[in-house]
Formats: sequence, structure tokens, C-alpha cells
Amino acid sequence: MVDVRVGQGFDVHPFVDDPDRPLVLGGVVFESERALRGHSDADVIAHACTDALLGAAGLGDIGELFPDTDDAYAGADSIELLAEATRRVREAGWSPGNVDVSIVTDHPKLAPRRREMQDRLSAAVGAPVTVKGRRPEGLGALGRGEGVAAWAVAVVTRG
Ligand code: MG
Repeated sequence: MVDVRVGQGFDVHPFVDDPDRPLVLGGVVFESERALRGHSDADVIAHACTDALLGAAGLGDIGELFPDTDDAYAGADSIELLAEATRRVREAGWSPGNVDVSIVTDHPKLAPRRREMQDRLSAAVGAPVTVKGRRPEGLGALGRGEGVAAWAVAVVTRG
């Protein structure tokens, strides 16, 4: 019998008016778009993936591994954090099967960069990562364009 576990990850970051800060989603830089506020590069997609994988392997969460009180992670490339978290998941004896992400935002348009995001995320995880965009339909803080939220589910198998 195959030993399979599922993990779930959620993350949200608010937009910030800082022209010097790039918007990074799924490891891809979106030029001329408002950035997200955060200690690292605030890549909400990479963070949700990281938490899903860590949760599946029972390894805690992204805040424990990479504390936002640690200057080492100021402006960190979250794809690197995702790769490091994946390394720890494998070290614990688990192999990522796949990760699926839903991201809720009106801006930026994600579809044109979807393949690029999936390629970067999949390379970091060493397994397929898929990204789906959803509009918030005008509801709440996400509908007012105050930030971006992402949900991810990951499957890992033993061995
Ligand atoms: Mg985050």
C-alpha cells in the first residue's frame, strides 16, 4: 500500500505602493504592477505551495522554517525557500506528487504568464505544480484589490 499524505496551504499579502519593489508571483516578475508587501519577496503563490508541502510532510509551516523576524530572509527569493522546504520534505522521506494552487485576484492578469509560473514552481518542487486564477467578483478586500490570496493543495508519497 502506498503511503500518501495531503497538505493544504493558504497565504495572503496586501498590495503596497512602492515603485522600487517588484511584484513576484510564482517566481515570475510582473513588470509595472503594484507589488505585494512582505518580509521576503511576498510571492504569495510560492508561500502557499511551501505551506502545503510542509503540512503534507508534517514539518510545520513556512514561518517556523523561515521566520520573518530573521534578516536573512529580508527580500528573499521565495522560489529558493520553496526549493529548500522541498529538500526538507524529501529529507523526511516524502516525495512530492503534485501541488495545485488557486490564486484569487483581478490584477495582474495571470493567464499569459501561467506556464512560466508553473515551470518555475515545478522546477523548485521537482514535481508538477499547477496554477489557476480566480476573480474575486468584487467581494471583500480581495474584490477591492487590496491584496492577493492563494490556496494550495499538495500530495506527497513515502519513498
Ligand atoms: Mg507569505
